[in-house]
Amino acid sequence: MFYLLILLLQMKLIKEIIDLNKAINKETRLGFVPTMGSLHKGHEALIKISKKKCKKTLVSIFVNPKQFNNKEDYKNYPRNLNNDLKILKRLKVDYVFIPTIDQIYKNKKLTKISIKKSDKVLCANFRKGHFEGVLNVLNRFVILIAPKIIFLGEKDYQQFFLVKKFIEKRHKTKVYLCKTIRSSNRIALSSRNRLLNKTNIQALSLITNKLLDLKKKIYKNRSESEALTNSAKIELTKLFNIKIEYLENRNTIDLGSNISNGPFKLFVAFYLGKVRLIDNF
Ligand code: AMP
Repeated sequence: MFYLLILLLQMKLIKEIIDLNKAINKETRLGFVPTMGSLHKGHEALIKISKKKCKKTLVSIFVNPKQFNNKEDYKNYPRNLNNDLKILKRLKVDYVFIPTIDQIYKNKKLTKISIKKSDKVLCANFRKGHFEGVLNVLNRFVILIAPKIIFLGEKDYQQFFLVKKFIEKRHKTKVYLCKTIRSSNRIALSSRNRLLNKTNIQALSLITNKLLDLKKKIYKNRSESEALTNSAKIELTKLFNIKIEYLENRNTIDLGSNISNGPFKLFVAFYLGKVRLIDNF
């Protein structure tokens, strides 16, 4: 009896779709946290919210090749499975799904996914095929898992925006937004931060603080948003020798550039050395 109880409490590690079906076919209130691994406190926050809101929680670890528009970036993406499993055990996650690429993409019938022209802004403009890859894999996961809720981070707000629209139109699953978790120096936690050295981390903290201040200024003076943003772009590029892909204000309703009233965010993507980072404020 005691051993049975221990078995029931154990986290289930699943690699094959056939085992996934067996394990979760009776679950009706499953929370799903999709990740690419190299877990940190940002992922942990998503998992904790899922555990509060859902009866059981499933976390996937899958570095999805289709969402990388650069082979080197895919190859260099940080991976740390042993540590991830320790974290997931500590958090008492119910199911961990670690599929192979073949398992996920063996169904060739699923149709090609495309993004509307008006949505091709920010990262969708600079990372060709990235969000098509994200939507493709999440659509496959939702078909396999049928979760009640998917939990996504605000750190990747554009991802949340596109996934919510796409998934809620096609499936019963709801998509829930969780706040960005930052370290004490205000840097948004990210698996990619592991690729930065100490000097770059210090620079990233200064850049982040400057962008937080800029957002406050723009919030108080929306009509000056363009001028304030453009001069900040020049200043940051000079000060930190970074390559800014975009620094733009967009409303959070449709990610359009009209921010004259209502909620908006300041979005940034830049290269610090060879590492591409994104954030929003
Ligand atoms: P990733 O493993 O980078 O694909 O991220 C998996 C999920 O964690 C996504 O929904 C991200 O938005 C979310 N996430 C990543 N970093 C953070 C963070 N600092 N705070 C909150 N959520 C995050």
